[in-house]
Amino acid sequence: MQRATDDDSIIESRVRAILERVRQGGDEALRAITTEIDGRCPDSLQVSEAEFAEAEALVSDDLKAAIRQAADNISAFHRAQQISTVDVRTMPGVHCRRRVLPIRRVGLYIPGGSAPLFSTILMLALPAQIAGCEEIVLCTPCDRTSGKVNPVVLYTAQLCGVRTIYKLGGAQAVAAMAYGTESIRRVYKIFGPGNRYVTKAKQMVSAQGTAIDMPAGPSEVMVMADATAQPAFVAADFLSQAEHGPDSQSILVCNSQKLAAEVEAEITRQLALLPRADIATRSLENSRIVVFDDVNTMVDFANDYAAEHLIIAMDDAWSVANRITAAGSIFVGHYSPESAGDYASGTNHTLPTMGLATAYSGIGLDSFMHAITYQELTQAGLNALGTTIVQMAEAEGLDAHANAVKVRLSSEDSENSESSEDSSCPLNWVRPNILALKPYSTARDEYKGTIGIYLDANENPFENGYNRYPSTTLKAQVRSTIAQKKGVDPARLFLGNGSDEAIDLLFRIFCRPGVDNVISIAPTYGMYSVCAAINDIEYREVMLDDNFALPVDKLLAAADAQSKLLFVCSPNNPTANAYSREQLITLVQQFPGIVVVDEAYIDFSSVPSMVELIDENPNLIVLQTLSKAYGLAGLRMGLAFAHERIISIFEQVKYPYNIGADTLALAQRLLATDITSQVQTLIAERERVAAALSTLPYVEKVYPSDANFLLVKVEHSRELYEYLIARELIVRDRSRTSGCEGTLRITIGTPEENDRLLAELKNRV
Ligand code: PMP
Repeated sequence: MQRATDDDSIIESRVRAILERVRQGGDEALRAITTEIDGRCPDSLQVSEAEFAEAEALVSDDLKAAIRQAADNISAFHRAQQISTVDVRTMPGVHCRRRVLPIRRVGLYIPGGSAPLFSTILMLALPAQIAGCEEIVLCTPCDRTSGKVNPVVLYTAQLCGVRTIYKLGGAQAVAAMAYGTESIRRVYKIFGPGNRYVTKAKQMVSAQGTAIDMPAGPSEVMVMADATAQPAFVAADFLSQAEHGPDSQSILVCNSQKLAAEVEAEITRQLALLPRADIATRSLENSRIVVFDDVNTMVDFANDYAAEHLIIAMDDAWSVANRITAAGSIFVGHYSPESAGDYASGTNHTLPTMGLATAYSGIGLDSFMHAITYQELTQAGLNALGTTIVQMAEAEGLDAHANAVKVRLSSEDSENSESSEDSSCPLNWVRPNILALKPYSTARDEYKGTIGIYLDANENPFENGYNRYPSTTLKAQVRSTIAQKKGVDPARLFLGNGSDEAIDLLFRIFCRPGVDNVISIAPTYGMYSVCAAINDIEYREVMLDDNFALPVDKLLAAADAQSKLLFVCSPNNPTANAYSREQLITLVQQFPGIVVVDEAYIDFSSVPSMVELIDENPNLIVLQTLSKAYGLAGLRMGLAFAHERIISIFEQVKYPYNIGADTLALAQRLLATDITSQVQTLIAERERVAAALSTLPYVEKVYPSDANFLLVKVEHSRELYEYLIARELIVRDRSRTSGCEGTLRITIGTPEENDRLLAELKNRV
């Protein structure tokens, strides 16, 4: 289990001296130290544009293509590691957030000595770029005689967008990046491998306020192998590690004496052929082959050793891999050599050594980021939490802490401030990335009607009635017309491409994928669960009570701090019943998120609409549609009524022209039609059909309806459905919907259509 470690007390005192000289003497000290160590110092420490250009020309096309392929894989793997903001209302009036942001200035150290490790640039600079670090500085030693940096290093750096490179190596480079000099700005975190001087310098500056990637020791690999392993593969993996440096370590753990012997023979054979055989030979002195009786012991040993690289060359490698609890990176199966991860598979090759993999991770996107947490308490929030804080502070004997709360606690107004806080801030619930969007408007909106030649939207200028994007003025007019009909301020109305668009927008505006959840009743309109699935939002269904009654308490009990939306369809599709205003108000008042009341069928209901309540309830959103009572299903226009700040967010998130020009023009014309008599007829027909249906012997129940359809429970529902289809009467089979077993949903047609339906149904008796 032991790693090769040296006594580094001499190194420590040398490095201490170098750090101190650079801290005091800046650029001049850097030059002096470089000259002392290398015999000379380049005229300019910073790599010039000409040097970048020269380097680019020196790298072969094949190598460039290889580097680009590796860069693509590494970028893809690291880009997928984005960490999202956490935003939680821990209790009413107490809002906590954790926002992750890039480290502004980072420094990368790339060794140039025995091997120019340009691959490490990919491993460090790409995640730094993806994280969004503003400044990336790279230090690497140059060739002593030519004064030039290795061309592949320069090519790779500029491919990764790194243009600030200093020809500096060793502890002095670390010092320059940690302290800053006249020409080199200090960075906040230093990354990268190096010799013992570099490693020591990183350790020392990390105790002085500059972060480092991780403590580093000599590189190491462990290969776990069983009888299925190929000795030649294992020996090659062993040696690929051994050539890193004399202090590298390779360990083979297997359960077969035979394999151990074969691998040993292969190592001898392959070693002879290696150019870096001398280094590898020395490192083999630290290396071991260990034979255990069984796989369990192998796994225990691997977990205790916590290898930087762990290759599992075994049958069913994944089942072993899944039992590993400590390793930097695992290479699963016979065809996953360490070299794949070292260069190009996509994982990062900067990994914890010396057994630190028990607690450290390798470099990832998060290594280039740091987080800030936030909390905002409203006055009411602090009033609610204050006693808790005061009690804890006093128990710890920290009275000043308690005081900082007490001076803010007030008895007056606490009730009011709770509601006024929440009512003035419906944006509490909006996803942070949506809030960060900038509002857009076009000059055409701004100069409406005053300027006549439109050369701003890349349309075809020749008039055909449709060559222009739909007019925002016409949209505003339609919006006003509808708002007026509904008795609301147009600023509180959103027009969507059907209310289905509004439903989808609700998910996208309020729910963070993979984090938040929504709640709804069941059975209900299917689009809510479809949108939840599309947007990767957990969908929690609460079954309606007996007789389809609204389970108010159960809905509230299902909610937690991540419950952003509660959907209540009223009148409900497919159960046809509407819920009382009192029950809905209870939900609006007690649900921690937004309550969406879908009133697609409200015009057929005796229960009043909730629209008039949006003014006082910022967490209430009401949906309606022109598809039902207005007879305009083909138009595709849905309505969302909400607090005007929410409406403005809808406007921002929707597609720019969500409603076509024709739809707007037709809506303007058709909305003038009075629908009252049609609606009256449909309600009367509904009652007539319901009464007639309930006389049929195979009809078990006609549920009361507040909508333009009836839910009917019948014997042998599927056969009845097919019987009707055969007679060209298409109804909706709801038999398979849980909670609606054995039912058909029948939309109310014209009186003639209803007569036909009833006649056919009577015939069936
Ligand atoms: N809500 C409910 C409850 C519905 O039943 C429907 C359509 N059947 C919709 C919304 C969708 O309506 P729109 O045509 O406005 O998209």
